Amino acid sequence: MKNKKPFLFDLTLKELTDIITELGEPAYRAKQVYEQVYSKAVSSFDKMNGLPKGLREKLAEVIDVSHLTTQIDKLSSDNHTRKILFGLPDGAQVETVLMGYIIRRTACISTQAGCALGCTFCATGQGGLQRNISSGEIVEQVMFFERELRKKNEKLTNLVFMGMGEPFANYNEVMKAIETLTDPNGFNFGARRITISTVGLVPYIDKFTLEQSQVNLAVSLHAATDELRETMLPINKRYPIRELIKSCRNYVNNTHRRISFEWALIDHVNDTTAQAEALTGLLKGMLCHVNFIPLNPTKGYGGHESKKMRISRFMQILDEAGIPNTLRIRRGIDINAGCGQLRQEST
Ligand code: SAH
Ligand code: SF4
Repeated sequence: MKNKKPFLFDLTLKELTDIITELGEPAYRAKQVYEQVYSKAVSSFDKMNGLPKGLREKLAEVIDVSHLTTQIDKLSSDNHTRKILFGLPDGAQVETVLMGYIIRRTACISTQAGCALGCTFCATGQGGLQRNISSGEIVEQVMFFERELRKKNEKLTNLVFMGMGEPFANYNEVMKAIETLTDPNGFNFGARRITISTVGLVPYIDKFTLEQSQVNLAVSLHAATDELRETMLPINKRYPIRELIKSCRNYVNNTHRRISFEWALIDHVNDTTAQAEALTGLLKGMLCHVNFIPLNPTKGYGGHESKKMRISRFMQILDEAGIPNTLRIRRGIDINAGCGQLRQEST
């Protein structure tokens, strides 16, 4: 059966070496294959020049080279954002987005098919969880876009785990994917150019802190009081703001790395002066940065993006408190490729 075969992108170099030596081939062939897959971004065994034909055929028989099937491929009207709906072998689906502006080429990767955490304003949350995906299914999303870019002599410059799903709810697979993507024997992507965004699963923020990873951490805060945050992000009932901020401060103190907070500005919901003041109270003195984004529309949520005047007043309160903050420009909204707009869809 097709899906019983080991999946290429799930394999570490060591696991690939075991398979290749079991086939009676020398171990160095595994390094060659790994290099073709990641450094050269080759998409199938038969295209791997430099490997004997017999070996290429044997490998194609025993290893599955792809789990992702492109089901929908959309380009935004300004040509800068491309969104792909991928089908997985069991029918689950993920969406992945590539954004290209000036010299940056950023892939926004999904870490789960759907999400169980139910944030009210997020399309992924509105759709529920299909399943966790494997490290290889995460890695293949990246390699898909890398191959597409190489056709134009370009490369991915940044990776953000901000697509569908909660990365820390699939912690081990996400960490394995990062290990593969940053492996110097293979893709060798810089950890500092990767960002993980979490809704705030406190025990996993603590676990991530211990990893002493160079990968950037972003936390979806969106509200500065439990009363409000609970209505937007149900997980706040489990991990209230006080615990979350304590864990974030612990991260900064232990890693000496700056942490980012995300805040989708929703008209008359979380863009009030009271929320801005509560936020400055939470973040005072922390090595951090706040990323604002006007709310993107989703089918299942009635709120609206904040008006320009309210956004500037909110940001001014942070400026005055000395808390670094920026407003992200919304991209790809015409193809529902913006933050929080990804979901499984069939049209
Ligand atoms: N599960 C992770 C990462 C995926 S969501 C998390 O929640 O952090 C990526 C970012 O998009 C998060 O900051 C999330 O809160 C935000 N987001 C969700 N819905 C949104 C919307 N409708 N408009 C703007 N941002 C949204
Ligand atoms: Fe899940 Fe993040 Fe969406 Fe919340 S915002 S439902 S955690 S993907």
